[in-house]
Amino acid sequence: MKVLVPVKRVIDYNIKPRVKADGTGVETAGVKMSMNPFDEIAVEEAVRLKEKGVVTEIVAISIGEPKAQDTLRTAMAMGADRSILVETDAVTEPLAVAKVLKALVEKEKPDLVILGKQAIDDDMNATGQMLAGLLGWPQGTFASKVEITDGKAMVTREIDGGLQTVALTLPAIVTADLRLNEPRYASLPNIMKARKKPMEKITPAEVDVDMTPRLSIVSVAEPTGRKAGIKVDSAAELVAKLRNEAKVI
Ligand code: AMP
Repeated sequence: MKVLVPVKRVIDYNIKPRVKADGTGVETAGVKMSMNPFDEIAVEEAVRLKEKGVVTEIVAISIGEPKAQDTLRTAMAMGADRSILVETDAVTEPLAVAKVLKALVEKEKPDLVILGKQAIDDDMNATGQMLAGLLGWPQGTFASKVEITDGKAMVTREIDGGLQTVALTLPAIVTADLRLNEPRYASLPNIMKARKKPMEKITPAEVDVDMTPRLSIVSVAEPTGRKAGIKVDSAAELVAKLRNEAKVI
């Protein structure tokens, strides 16, 4: 069974993003970049399925700048067998990414694609769903558990009221939520081994996808700062302030 895992290079989740002075976006020059955290979870899940003997091959895919190679090497150090870099300087919006992934699915013929539920840079939460739509495949989004049995993926999903389990007939799309697993750190020997694993490089044009953005960003601004709080001495004082100053009761 073959699994594709799309991994996006984003600003590291520990970094506080800075908005560019002209308000056109977020500064990425000289900023630490890493694999999108939900994609680490997706890679980990694929590797665990391989360790269980369910999966035989894991292919990591990234669409982006040449530096996305680092993200693919990390995926391979975690356990992916090979990778494909779809090189572009364009902004990667979900529909264009989903179209590239569809073309690669048609070429690679995987049984499962595991994506992150969302990329933490643009918070779109759309690519997995769009890919399922374009392929006409079943989807299990926000997965907190995945089990493969008898040609089906049993996916437990985190929904408002609790946990829902759906049975997807393979091939299928799964998107990983936070509690699916805890991704491993790549060990030094595995980082060294990953350098020798194959990385194919293609362009969006080779799979006939136009990356021209469909969305135009009107402006990007920092969130407004919060005012400092104060301590009150009694419940009566709190009620008075809520009534007379905040005017919320
Ligand atoms: P999004 O819909 O942008 O929130 O992204 C959801 C998921 O789609 C991510 O967690 C990745 O698995 C995948 N994805 C989105 N953009 C890219 C990209 N440029 N390269 C590889 N995977 C991507």
